[in-house]
Amino acid sequence: MMELVCPAGNLPSLKAAVDQGADAVYIGFKDETNARNFAGLNFNSRNIERGIEYAHQRGTRVFAAINTFPQPNGWHRWTDAVDLAAESGIDAVILADLGLLEYAAQRWPEMNLHLSVQGSATNYESIDFLHRTFGISRAVIPRVLSAAQVRHLAEHSPIPLELFGFGSLCVMVEGRCLLSSYATGRSPNTYGACSPGSHVEWIERPDGGTETRLGGILVDRFEANEAAGYPTICKGRFEVEGKEGYAIEEPTSLNTLELLPEMMSMGIGAVKIEGRQRSPAYVAQVTQVWREAIDRCQRDPEGFQVEPRWNAALSKVAEGAQTTLGAYQRTWQ
Ligand code: SF4
Repeated sequence: MMELVCPAGNLPSLKAAVDQGADAVYIGFKDETNARNFAGLNFNSRNIERGIEYAHQRGTRVFAAINTFPQPNGWHRWTDAVDLAAESGIDAVILADLGLLEYAAQRWPEMNLHLSVQGSATNYESIDFLHRTFGISRAVIPRVLSAAQVRHLAEHSPIPLELFGFGSLCVMVEGRCLLSSYATGRSPNTYGACSPGSHVEWIERPDGGTETRLGGILVDRFEANEAAGYPTICKGRFEVEGKEGYAIEEPTSLNTLELLPEMMSMGIGAVKIEGRQRSPAYVAQVTQVWREAIDRCQRDPEGFQVEPRWNAALSKVAEGAQTTLGAYQRTWQ
């Protein structure tokens, strides 16, 4: 059975995902121990138990992402997060750092350990090593492998794989991107946010347009009638060799609904939806569509077809106007 794993940046999102049929939700704490460390998001010791109780009463599991890399002066913040998750009755912790995997395996030997996408495992030797050494029971795979590479990995992995199915894309191998630290001194690996709100500026221009900056660096300029996107360095428009445009990546959203039968035939353990920073309405909409699609595909993989209404519903909440199959569709890789 392929599981549906949905994002929950707060309690209303968690409830939305549970109510719409997620098999599991993933959450983070209100600090730099997780890779969605944005103001107003995430859980603390008070509401994590309420979230877990709500989910468990309805048969949904809860995972905690503690997937940034402990800094020299803050090791205990990361181990405290593991302890809080374990003491609250979490079903699994999603970790990236080797030291933290070792800590969790020693301190909480019964706890399920998942390897985060930030752990950057793209070959089965590393998954096998982490499984033998720390007992990880699932690995989330970076969004840089082609479908053929994922199939090869799935055939040889000793544990189930979790694949991203929908949401915003990182152009770099997750866990290895330092782009934003050049503009802000902070990177997702250390601080938990790629473009921290404290370094973001939205500047109105005299012509009614908007300029977005990160750490003072101009990332994009929007006309008055254009929707201004959150400034992310990899999705900015820059001038390169006299040409202006998206120098690294256009803002697109991953949408792999049409690959569901292929993923199932590979024996993929779970599909993950990106977006703990998104609204409860996004979580509800995306969970509803993917629940229906997975159930349909599970009943009849050969006859599975993507319903146009599913894509219409998803495109209303997607980032950017376009969707992509991402690296999964690369035939040259
Ligand atoms: S800069 Fe882009 S590729 Fe790097 S972490 Fe941020 S979103 Fe991902």
